[in-house]
Amino acid sequence: MDITGKHLINGEFVARGNTSFNAHFADGDKNLTHSFYEATLQEVSDACNAAQKAFEAYKLKSDTKRAEFLEEIALEIAALTKPLVETAQKETGLPEARLNGEIGRTTSQLNLFAKLLKDGHWVNAIIDEAQPERLPLPKADIRMLQVPLGPVAVFGASNFPFAFSVAGGDTVSALAAGCPVVFKAHPAHPATCEIVAQAIKKAIIKCQMPLGVFNMLQGQTHETGGALVQNDLITAVGFTGSFKGGKALYDLATRRACPIPVYAEMGSVNPVFFLPGILKEKKEELAKGLAASVTLGVGQFCTNPGLFVVEQSEQADGFIKQTASDLSSITLGPMLTPAIKKAFIDGIHHIKQENGVTSLTQDAQNAEVRPQLLLSQVDTVIRNEKIMEEVFGPSTVAVSAANVSEVIKFAKSLKGHLTATVFGTDDDLKQYQELIHILQQKVGRLIFNNFPTGVEVTHAMVHGGPYPATTDARSTSVGTTAIYRFTRPLCFQNCPDDLLPDALKRGNPLNIIRTVNGVSSKN
Ligand code: NAP
Repeated sequence: MDITGKHLINGEFVARGNTSFNAHFADGDKNLTHSFYEATLQEVSDACNAAQKAFEAYKLKSDTKRAEFLEEIALEIAALTKPLVETAQKETGLPEARLNGEIGRTTSQLNLFAKLLKDGHWVNAIIDEAQPERLPLPKADIRMLQVPLGPVAVFGASNFPFAFSVAGGDTVSALAAGCPVVFKAHPAHPATCEIVAQAIKKAIIKCQMPLGVFNMLQGQTHETGGALVQNDLITAVGFTGSFKGGKALYDLATRRACPIPVYAEMGSVNPVFFLPGILKEKKEELAKGLAASVTLGVGQFCTNPGLFVVEQSEQADGFIKQTASDLSSITLGPMLTPAIKKAFIDGIHHIKQENGVTSLTQDAQNAEVRPQLLLSQVDTVIRNEKIMEEVFGPSTVAVSAANVSEVIKFAKSLKGHLTATVFGTDDDLKQYQELIHILQQKVGRLIFNNFPTGVEVTHAMVHGGPYPATTDARSTSVGTTAIYRFTRPLCFQNCPDDLLPDALKRGNPLNIIRTVNGVSSKN
C-alpha cells in the first residue's frame, strides 16, 4: 500500500514543509520505512480554509446524501481491512483480532449514524404554531431545529487507531451533523491514519462531496494541534486523549478572540465498588474478572478500572490476594509506544513512593511491563490526589475502607470519571443506595455487576462525565447523541414555508417525527 506521508487538504495529498518524522514500531524505536511531513502553519490554515469552503456546499446536502457518504466511507474502509490491520499492528502492537474488531466497530458506527440521518428526526424539529387570534397579543409561528456549527477540529487517541481516530466517533458525528472536519493525525499511528484518509478521499469523490469536507494533517509537535484549535474558522473541537493534552487544547480554545466549545474526552480512573454480600458469594470469579479487565489491551483503555474499593473483612482480604495472584499470572503484549510504556513505569514507581501505599505484585522486569496491584486506605488516598490520578496501563489500586461510612466518604471525595461500577447482590444494592446516589453525580455511566471496559456504540450510550474526565459534562463522545456536540439550535419566526428547511415545512414533507405544539407527532 503506497503511503505518501503527506497531508490531505482539499482532496489532495500535499506537503510543503521540510521537517519530517518517522513512524515507529510499537515495541521499540526501530523506524518503519515511512516518513511523514510535519504540517506547516500555512498547511493548517489551508486545511481550515478548505473545510470552510466545503461547509457552504456540505451543509446544503440532504440527510440522505450525507448518509450515503458515511456508508461509502464504511465500505471503503472495510475494503482496506487487510492493509489497515497489517499497518496498525506494526504501529500500535495491538493484536490482529482486536484490530479487526475495532474496524468492525468503526464501520458499524458509520452505518449507525447513516441510519440516524435517514430516519431524519435527529434534527429535533419543534414547532409552535401561530395563534393570530390570541389576546391580548397574537402569537407568532415559531419553529426550531438543529443546524451544523461549521468546521470541526478532531484529535484522536493512540489507543484506538480506528474507533477514536481518523474516521472515529468524533469525525463521524461531525460529518453526520453537516460539519467538515480537519483531523490531526496521531503521531503514534500516522501510516494507519493515512490509509483511512485515502479511504475517505475515495468516498468523497464517489459521493461527489465537496473536496474539503475532510482534511487531515500529520505532525508530531504540539504546534500543529495548537494552531488548529486557534484558527478562526474552526467552530468546535473534538478531542480524545490524555488529560494533559485535552486541557492544554481547551485552554488555548478558551483564550481565542471567539471562544468555541471543546469536547475533550480525557483519562479516567473508573472506580469500582465491590460490596460485602457479593464478595462473600463469588470473590474468585470477581477477582478473575477484575484482573482480565485491568489487563485488557495492556490496560490501555480509558475505561480501565484503575481503582477499586472494598470494606475491610476476611472476604475482602482474600479477594485482594486472589486478584494479585490472577494479575501476576497474566502475560502482557507490548504497550502502544515507548513513551506510554515509560510513563506507565514511572507513574507506578511514583505512586509506590507515597506513604501508605503497598505493592502486591512484582515490578517491571528487564523493562518488561507487568500488571500492577497497589494497596492503600481511604484516608491516605483522599489526602493524596496523586494516587487517584490515571496511570495509563495495566494497574489498579485497591482502596480499603474501614466501614460503610468510609466507603461513602470516599465516594463523596471522587472527582468526575467516565464510569463508576458497583458490584453487589440485590440486598447489597438496597443497603448502599446512598452510594449509588452519590456516584450518579460523579460519572457519565453508572454500571452494575459488569466491568467498565467495553463501550457499546448505541443510541443510549454516554461516554463522557464531569470534569476532569471531560471538559463538557453535557455531552457524550460515543453513541448517536454525540452528534449534538456539533450542532446548535436555530429558530425561525413567521418564516414563509418555501424558505423553511424541509424538516420544518408545513405538511411535514420528510414525514419525520416532530414536536408540534408540545406533542410528538408526524404532522
Ligand atoms: P495524547 O498524548 O493526549 O494525544 C492525543 C492527541 O492530542 C494527539 O494528536 C496529540 O498530538 C495531541 N496533543 C496532545 N497534547 C497536546 C498539546 N499540548 N497541544 C496540542 N496537541 C496535543 O493522548 P494519548 O496518549 O494518545 O492517549 C492516551 C490517553 O487517552 C489516556 O489518558 C486515555 O485514558 C485517554 N483516552 C480517553 C478516551 C476517552 O474516550 N475518554 C479514549 C481513549 C483514550 P501531538 O502529540 O502530536 O501533539
